[in-house]
Amino acid sequence: MRLTPRAAAVPLSRTLALDARAKALAATGRDVVNMTAGEPDFDSPEVVRAAAKRIVDEGRVRYTPAAGRADLRAAVAAHLERTRGVPYEAAEVTVCHSAKHALSGTLLALVDAGDEVLMPLPAWTSYEAMVQYAGGVPVGVPPRADMGLDLAALEAAITPRTVGVLVNSPNNPSGWVATRAETEALCELARAHDLWIVSDEIYSRLVYEGEPFVSPVQCGADARARTLVVDGASKAFAMTGYRIGFVAGDRAVANTVANLHSQLVGAPNAVGQDAFQAALVAEPPEVEAMAREFDARRRHVLARLEALGLETPRPRGAFYVFPSIRGQRFGGDADAFCEALLEEEGLAIVPGTAFGLDGHVRLSYATSMQIIDAGLERLARFLSR
Ligand code: PLP
Repeated sequence: MRLTPRAAAVPLSRTLALDARAKALAATGRDVVNMTAGEPDFDSPEVVRAAAKRIVDEGRVRYTPAAGRADLRAAVAAHLERTRGVPYEAAEVTVCHSAKHALSGTLLALVDAGDEVLMPLPAWTSYEAMVQYAGGVPVGVPPRADMGLDLAALEAAITPRTVGVLVNSPNNPSGWVATRAETEALCELARAHDLWIVSDEIYSRLVYEGEPFVSPVQCGADARARTLVVDGASKAFAMTGYRIGFVAGDRAVANTVANLHSQLVGAPNAVGQDAFQAALVAEPPEVEAMAREFDARRRHVLARLEALGLETPRPRGAFYVFPSIRGQRFGGDADAFCEALLEEEGLAIVPGTAFGLDGHVRLSYATSMQIIDAGLERLARFLSR
């Protein structure tokens, strides 16, 4: 059967593919340690589980409006106001099946054929495919050595075809967190060149070094107006399988995303909506406890990587480390490094090329200390060969 070139060009997500490969290998009896997954290894909070069971038991599992239930949209608006300190209205929020779904809908609404979209690197693996599917051209911009935004390089990459910038802080894969000054400078750049900002804030609850998370929407009225915030339940509330997220900002964009989704997927699922609302309203204590545990793992992993002599940009958020492998086996070729690591030692991690940056590898510490230690032991053995 003939596939459209547009659809056929979409590859399976690298991170999902690697995770699946590690699991398939383990299923054949291979001893595999899997540090690929960007998925909290905790149960979702008690209130979330109770809300999910309740809605099923009460039989309220029906279609909802395409933009999500009105009370959930209001709860998201209130949550944004509480966490970002900026007022939002329910009409500016469209609930989606996930942050991924919110990002793809938003990019389909904003990106036209030939439009260029700036992506500070390293960039989460799906951005490139999403922009391309919308007909746009993703323009990766390498970071500073500490993985922070290189604003001069970003500005130099702007052309008359540039329409927006896709930013992700705290960052997957590097753990970089934008400071207020960096965020303000990004907003100024967007204002000067009339760009929209899509701000992927899925890890905003996971910031470890005492600094506040700063969203572009906190940088004045102009930035608030040109920024679409994308966030969701997966990481903060350990709700990956509930598939629920949202986009918030310009009403016309929020409306267009809802219209698109009304035709393509109908409406976000009812169970996820109730469960997410319960989490947003309750602010469950498990969230803080999870963040503390991630922080303990982060410190542990960093110390171990340092002892191995791997130069690692200090992650201040999310739950990944992104050490450099230049000067190690395979001379910085991350694909070859990860392939051999899986073959020789049964350790699955993600090459930096999945995020547009060779010479680095990503290890997720959203897994138990035992798995982390087993993985790092294998990595040490592999490096010493
Ligand atoms: N954005 C980033 C940077 C992510 O790392 C992920 C998940 O790994 C997502 C978005 C998607 O999250 P969701 O599970 O809500 O689709």
